Amino acid sequence: MLGPVILAASRSDRMRRLISAAPVTKQVVDRFIPGETVTDVVPIIRDLTDQGLELTMDVVGEDITTPEQASAARDAYLALIDHLKELELGERVEMSVKLSMFGQALEGGHELALANVRPVVEAAAAIGTTVTLDAEDHTTLDSMFAIHEELRKDFPQTGCVIQAYLFRTEADARRLAESGSRVRLVKGAYKEPAEVAYQQKHEIDKAYVRILKTLMEGEGYPMIGSHDPRLIAIAQELAHKAGRKLDEYEFQMLYGIRGEEHLRLAAEGHRMRVYTAYGTDWYGYFMRRLAEKPANLRFFVRSMITKG
Ligand SMILES: Cc1cc2nc3c(=O)[nH]c(=O)nc-3n(C[C@H](O)[C@H](O)[C@H](O)COP(=O)(O)OP(=O)(O)OC[C@H]3O[C@@H](n4cnc5c(N)ncnc54)[C@H](O)[C@@H]3O)c2cc1C
Repeated sequence: MLGPVILAASRSDRMRRLISAAPVTKQVVDRFIPGETVTDVVPIIRDLTDQGLELTMDVVGEDITTPEQASAARDAYLALIDHLKELELGERVEMSVKLSMFGQALEGGHELALANVRPVVEAAAAIGTTVTLDAEDHTTLDSMFAIHEELRKDFPQTGCVIQAYLFRTEADARRLAESGSRVRLVKGAYKEPAEVAYQQKHEIDKAYVRILKTLMEGEGYPMIGSHDPRLIAIAQELAHKAGRKLDEYEFQMLYGIRGEEHLRLAAEGHRMRVYTAYGTDWYGYFMRRLAEKPANLRFFVRSMITKG
């Protein structure tokens, strides 16, 4: 019940101002977003890769309102890639991007987002790594898939995300599996209406398994974006049945969530990639993490009451 309320609050400017200014917020945010600048996160990249983990880096920010902000987002990723070049980690550290941050919702947004993301994809390829396009709310997805297809003409390794809660996703998965794409499958983190998305957890989980089967049996590279122990076990089983080797799929989880499981899967020989977000505009990302688990919200509210 709480999830949709928190997701609605994540779109409110008033809540954004209130929550961002609360003194205790920072401590709770740090669990999920371990730094504000690229220099804050370089030691984290070193530390996690030293432990056998791989990363996908997200510079947080969305809902931008000007083309200048979209250019600044592109430049933030290019600065990150400059740092990654020195670390020489190749595809062990890739990037996740939200096209909204590259201007997708502005006037002429589809072309603007493509123009802004292309140099990031090019720069990533030049240092031996790649970019995955995150999935945002359902109204943005036709544009995201078209940009994905366009980028793949020159950079076939470019990945995209599909969300199990959407009715459309089984068809998207079939198309992407046939075309040999890198695809991250997640349950879905936005507030979506019943006309386009499953609302019940058990329906979403069942759809997740059906889609995963399509991806595992297909030609592409499946990336299992979930912390759900049941789905992780099913993914291992499906990969085995499809005759996939350990390096022919990977697990992905968010920084700050089930860290011991990251290490367990890596120790078993799996590719395990940690989605690591950083930056100052963390509000939307943070609110989605609160919405996913009511205990996070309870902890946050308790901290506000006891320390505020
Ligand atoms: C690598 C990665 C990338 C993602 N990219 C996208 C994207 O592009 N678009 C999109 O819509 N969504 C994205 N998501 C979010 C996703 O859609 C889900 O909202 C999120 O992963 C929670 O679902 P779950 O599969 O972990 O299962 P759940 O059933 O929600 O969780 C399973 C268990 O994981 C733990 N857990 C899950 N979430 C949290 C949390 N926030 N805090 C603490 N514990 C938690 C709990 O122990 C929980 O019982 C991404 C998720 C991952 C892991």
